[in-house]
Amino acid sequence: MTISSRLLEIKKALPTGVTLVAVSKTKPVEDILEAYQAGQRIFGENKIQEMTDKYAVLPRDIQWHMIGHVQTNKVKYMAPFVSLIHAVDSLRLLQEIDKQAKRNERVIDCLLQLYIADETTKFGLDETELDEILASEALKSLKNIRIVGLMAMATFTKDQTQIKAEFDHLNAIFKRVQLQYNTLENASFKELSIGMSNDYITAIDSGSTMIRIGSTIFGSRNY
Ligand SMILES: *Cc1c(COP(=O)(O)O)cnc(C)c1O
Repeated sequence: MTISSRLLEIKKALPTGVTLVAVSKTKPVEDILEAYQAGQRIFGENKIQEMTDKYAVLPRDIQWHMIGHVQTNKVKYMAPFVSLIHAVDSLRLLQEIDKQAKRNERVIDCLLQLYIADETTKFGLDETELDEILASEALKSLKNIRIVGLMAMATFTKDQTQIKAEFDHLNAIFKRVQLQYNTLENASFKELSIGMSNDYITAIDSGSTMIRIGSTIFGSRNY
């Protein structure tokens, strides 16, 4: 199967209200162009340098999503064009994104990453840290960021029952913060970014509004 046929296959089966982020990390621009020609406009990368290089040579109507862990000192390179930053995990990072967004006269959309997996290798906030950020005075002064939802990764396992429990837990947190922080001017919890190649069906079942699919579209990656 080709990239375009795999892409269209996935899109055909998506319920309305679920956005597909095509994760093109490590893949060449030709592969991205093939997906682009099949109609895909949202692409996800996990390294700022790689995303910036691809942005420079690809069509300008592509929306670039940063899905990887972000180092504060590299925010400036993507601030002119990034469309959504998925994995924000500290107030300090939000402050830096705000500063760089302001320099570029933009508002940058962000998701806060929660840690829900049963592993020690993944990044993200726990629920207490999430509330600390959302309740903080410092957040209120950030006019050039907008928190548009939450993102998470489930445990890397084939056990869909465990994955479902983790996603349901996240969805419960999502619904709580949606109500609790609905007066924040720079936050509106619309997006729940969960679901990758091996668990996106489960994620959609648990309320995902944004799935991030790489290998099922572009084939496996050799790191
Ligand atoms: C690589 C990656 C994906 C896509 O993974 P696949 O299993 O190839 O679909 C999704 N989200 C994040 C954060 C990633 O780093």
